[in-house]
Amino acid sequence: MADFLPMTDTPRDLETSPPQRRSLLDLHRDELVSWLAEQGQPKFRAAQILRWVYQQRAMSFGEMTDLPAKLRQRMSEDFDLFTADVEIEQVSHDGTEKLLLRLRDGGEIECVLLRDGPRRSICVSSQVGCAMGCVFCASGLDGVKRNLTRGEIMEQMLRLQRRLPADERLSHIVMMGMGEPLANLDNVLATLDIARDADGLGISPRRITISTVGLPPAIDRLARHGVPYNLAVSLHAPNDELRNRLVPVNVKVGIDKILTAADRYFSISGRRLTYEYVLLGGVNDSMQQAHELVRLLRGRSALLNVIPYNPVAGLPYKTPSTGAITQFREALEQGGVNVQFRTRKGSDIDAACGQLRRNRGMLDESQLPLA
Ligand code: SAH
Repeated sequence: MADFLPMTDTPRDLETSPPQRRSLLDLHRDELVSWLAEQGQPKFRAAQILRWVYQQRAMSFGEMTDLPAKLRQRMSEDFDLFTADVEIEQVSHDGTEKLLLRLRDGGEIECVLLRDGPRRSICVSSQVGCAMGCVFCASGLDGVKRNLTRGEIMEQMLRLQRRLPADERLSHIVMMGMGEPLANLDNVLATLDIARDADGLGISPRRITISTVGLPPAIDRLARHGVPYNLAVSLHAPNDELRNRLVPVNVKVGIDKILTAADRYFSISGRRLTYEYVLLGGVNDSMQQAHELVRLLRGRSALLNVIPYNPVAGLPYKTPSTGAITQFREALEQGGVNVQFRTRKGSDIDAACGQLRRNRGMLDESQLPLA
């Protein structure tokens, strides 16, 4: 074997790798200010930099032309503005755009821009993968890898913002991408602080929705945080027996405790609750289940958002027939539930969470789960 070794072997420790720069988006404002002070720069430079990042949509430090050239140079040596690579971009016929981002450590996440009338909504991921194990969802099939950092959550928002023409602004944020936002609550809340800040993205908390599988202690923490975000709870079943099967984390929690925590959130925040219900043909769409759902939600100040299932390749679940959907809807309406049936957007581009990552190996259009 030794014959095949090169004459001069390079020892491993001499191999050079580029220094790992810090992510600018991970920095708190005061950390940026102290870094600037170290460079002998005044405090007001921080405001200039943030304006370039959040309002003027800079893609690089070089574009920040009202900063001294030397400072721009130092910034590009010490920081990365964006740390992920856009691996795949998809644009749907209805204007929905989806990005698959590859993170520094190779993890992959997805985020989506939805255009609906004047609305420009974004759907953002909070974790690489997901630990909740919902049996019909593509995001959690391989479990959770890790929480996203503040910078990685914000990068999704900024990359989608930069896809809008200069005269359009992001109007709504939903934390409904990959992962369970309440399992990464600190980083989600810190990112949303910037999203709603006038010097950040300036989006009102009333236009920001956090979607959760239903983790009562974290719902209570969110209530104590005191910012009136909309809360959406993914219910998907009207009783524990079925929910334990569809949403395995339910075994440890139970619908009762979730509804009670959500009610507490409503009484503190004053924001109407949304319950999400993914309609799975032959699984949770029967008349009996509709009536059970009516008994559960009647009298609660909540909106039931029924979402027809977006099929995931390799999973056995199906979208119900149009007839079954209509029947289910009528039963809920007659029962007095405030119900909304969501129309699917971006279904020609794998817009349901986790689908693009899962299907990337077979991006031949004929194999996409067309609705
Ligand atoms: N973990 C959070 C947020 C991410 S999922 C939660 O559970 O709410 C956002 C919503 O999309 C959830 O209601 C989830 O159940 C739903 N969902 C997941 N896969 C879907 C699919 N293939 N079709 C339709 N909805 C799906």
